[in-house]
Amino acid sequence: MLKHLLRRLFCQPSRNSPVGDNRGDRSSVPAPAVVPIPDPIREVPKPVADTLSKLSRERLSQCHPDLQRVVELAAGRYPMAVIQGHRGEKEQNEAFSRGNSKLKWPNSKHNSLPSMAVDLVPMPLDWNNVKRFDELAVVVKAAAKELGVELVWGGDWKSFKDRPHYELRRSTSPNSSNSN
Ligand SMILES: [Zn+2]
Repeated sequence: MLKHLLRRLFCQPSRNSPVGDNRGDRSSVPAPAVVPIPDPIREVPKPVADTLSKLSRERLSQCHPDLQRVVELAAGRYPMAVIQGHRGEKEQNEAFSRGNSKLKWPNSKHNSLPSMAVDLVPMPLDWNNVKRFDELAVVVKAAAKELGVELVWGGDWKSFKDRPHYELRRSTSPNSSNSN
């Protein structure tokens, strides 16, 4: 009984099956190959520094043009945020009180306009992941070197390690000492 059924199923394809109906025989002609049309919108490359947020760009805009160039270049290579550009008097003295800065107004390199210092963090931000701050520093230092900008990283300081902090080595402000 089973053999009979199998034979019916596999050895005698039905002539009136809709699948086997080749009337007109159009289905046996291969369809022309579909050539995908390139999408010009998708092929536009992303801007180099599109990892920077609007707020980061606002803060960066208060920084010395050399710092801006370095950050723009580095931001295209490593996700980051600018958490500080210029610091006004109130902000500076608050940073001093919190222990985020060793200096009172107007002695930080953040206090001039344009700011001679910028604070950068890797994104997404995890303050405990020191390794990522170090990775970011490698990228930022490389960008500075490429652009011929002499940069000092706060993470290289011995007494007070300030990993988000980057400043221009040469100060244009008589008020600025070399700290955060
Ligand atoms: Zn700083």
